[in-house]
Amino acid sequence: MKKQILLATSNQNKVREMKDDLLIFFDDVLSLKDVNLTIDVEETGTTFLENSKIKASDVSSKTNIPVLGDDSGLEIDALDGRPGIYSARFLQNESYETKCKELLKLLKDKDNREASFTCALTYIDKINGIEKQFVGKCNGRIIDAYQDCKYGFGYDPIFYSYEAHDVFGNIPKEEKFKYSHRGKAVKMFLNFLKEVYHEGNIRNR
Ligand code: IMP
Repeated sequence: MKKQILLATSNQNKVREMKDDLLIFFDDVLSLKDVNLTIDVEETGTTFLENSKIKASDVSSKTNIPVLGDDSGLEIDALDGRPGIYSARFLQNESYETKCKELLKLLKDKDNREASFTCALTYIDKINGIEKQFVGKCNGRIIDAYQDCKYGFGYDPIFYSYEAHDVFGNIPKEEKFKYSHRGKAVKMFLNFLKEVYHEGNIRNR
């Protein structure tokens, strides 16, 4: 029987970043588009964890395929953690270049450029009664000026990662994944899968 997972996100950038590593364990990594589903709930949570669970639960209520929900975002210390859980909704309908430039404007004259990305994952395998959450975080700082970047998405062009020693927008996805919030959360998830599905009493679909 094929091991499948459905990613509860319509953000193709997230799918692209997670897919290769999830294929280590799963035979099929599906996106909402592949199964003609949408997320029909508002992100009413006050944390990344709550919002990832809201998304995963909504999608899991419509399918028997195990679901992975992702909620993530950028927190900037000098802006009291903004945009945080509102990272996607900040200046909604504007381009990410505009959003990044607005954040740089808000940080003008601020000495403290510390920032972090967080990724919360919620996994729900309802056939086997498994629900588990994972959080990955990476630290860095917001650079001084916007630069056009070859790689990445969202706020990657303005985030310098202390672990990668580069701006996320400058490094290919495989390299970013080694150090990113999403890469760390997915690694925890894969370790969990190895343990739990090797116990033998878990059904594959
Ligand atoms: P949501 O999790 O779909 O609510 O949106 C998360 C938002 O946070 C994305 O749309 C991006 O703006 C931002 N974000 C999350 N992860 C990353 C990343 O790895 N790089 C750049 N921006 C990110």
